[in-house]
Amino acid sequence: MAHYDIQRIRNDFPILAATIYDKPLIYLDNGATTQKPQSVIDAISQYYSTLNSNVHRGVHYLSQRATDAFEASRKKLQVFLNSLHDHEIIFTRGTTESINLVAACYGKAFVNAGDEIIISALEHHSNMVPWQMLCEDIGATLKIIPITDAGELDMDAFRLLLNDRVKLVAVAYISNSLGTINPVREIIKLAHGYDIPVLLDAAQAVQHVPIDVQELDVDFLAFSGHKMYGPTGIGVLYGKEKWLNKMPPYQGGGEMIKRVTFEKTTYNELPFKFEAGTPNIEGVICLSAAVDYLNDIGLANIYTYEHELLEYATNALLDIPELRLVGTATEKSSVISFLIGNVHPYDVGVILDKLGIAVRTGHHCTEPLMDRLCIPGTVRASLALYTTVDDIDTLVEGIKKAASMLLA
Ligand code: PLP
Repeated sequence: MAHYDIQRIRNDFPILAATIYDKPLIYLDNGATTQKPQSVIDAISQYYSTLNSNVHRGVHYLSQRATDAFEASRKKLQVFLNSLHDHEIIFTRGTTESINLVAACYGKAFVNAGDEIIISALEHHSNMVPWQMLCEDIGATLKIIPITDAGELDMDAFRLLLNDRVKLVAVAYISNSLGTINPVREIIKLAHGYDIPVLLDAAQAVQHVPIDVQELDVDFLAFSGHKMYGPTGIGVLYGKEKWLNKMPPYQGGGEMIKRVTFEKTTYNELPFKFEAGTPNIEGVICLSAAVDYLNDIGLANIYTYEHELLEYATNALLDIPELRLVGTATEKSSVISFLIGNVHPYDVGVILDKLGIAVRTGHHCTEPLMDRLCIPGTVRASLALYTTVDDIDTLVEGIKKAASMLLA
């Protein structure tokens, strides 16, 4: 891509200049967490040096400025996702908490014994266990959309699962283990045909593809700041106002109340009803810097660049005779999972680490998916907006070396 200045982008991330065991760092564990640009690092330091104060409750200058910055960040997220209202943006600790919030609060309001919740076979444990817990508590049933051997959802099977007992469909936009981009528009359309709301786990999507929640017509969307070049410990739940208003609060405490007496508490309006206690002020304000960073490059440009890189990497890896790709969906994003012969993924990961190459090995918090594919786990290289062709070439050389050592 001619106008994608990869060197300038890399210069924005100080950690990318690091050496590991005297080798240049090749960071390919972006699905787990991304590195941070200098602008986000500076925003954190700036917040504590110039703005630190509690929000929403102070009359004094600093508190008001911190509150303004906090609420400006909410607005920025609203524009980023194109949600109708800023109060549809709820700040949480991350994707996991966002999904747990919906399971707890939507579950309390809308799910009863005998009802059904649909997830898919490729979900992260974060989009599986909360629904399992809800179903166990309430006496509802969890239904699973099966996948094909390539790692695509079986949409015919999904159609057959839909009925009036289903109260929610919760699926990943993009699979963290396989990179499959799920046909979310079709899923939402089909579910809405039965008036069933849809939650998208966008933990692996929001940093790779432009998302417009109104265009998608999605009901809930969850993601984490730390996977989109922002701070750790902050995340977002987008929810349509019509659902959020009908859901009870998540936790009790300060901020989420309107009036408290010993006899009765009335709850605050959106979004504060779901934001009990002092929030992660630093996280919220600095997430805004991460959104600015993504907007400056442009998600459409990021998608094109990463897609070309994914194709380059896939072709290069397929040239290694002992390598088997795990996850070969037609629509994929930024994740390459693979195995080398019968070698345990961990052993490959250890050798790559000694070469300065950071990949992830194991089940990637998708144990049922690994069971379905009859493998213990994979080696996963996950790309980011700063990954280069040279990174991929070094990975390929590293894998060849690991294969020659482990298969000898
Ligand atoms: N969902 C998916 C698809 C993920 O990849 C992850 C993290 O890897 C999560 C949920 C959980 O995210 P977090 O740990 O930031 O809450």
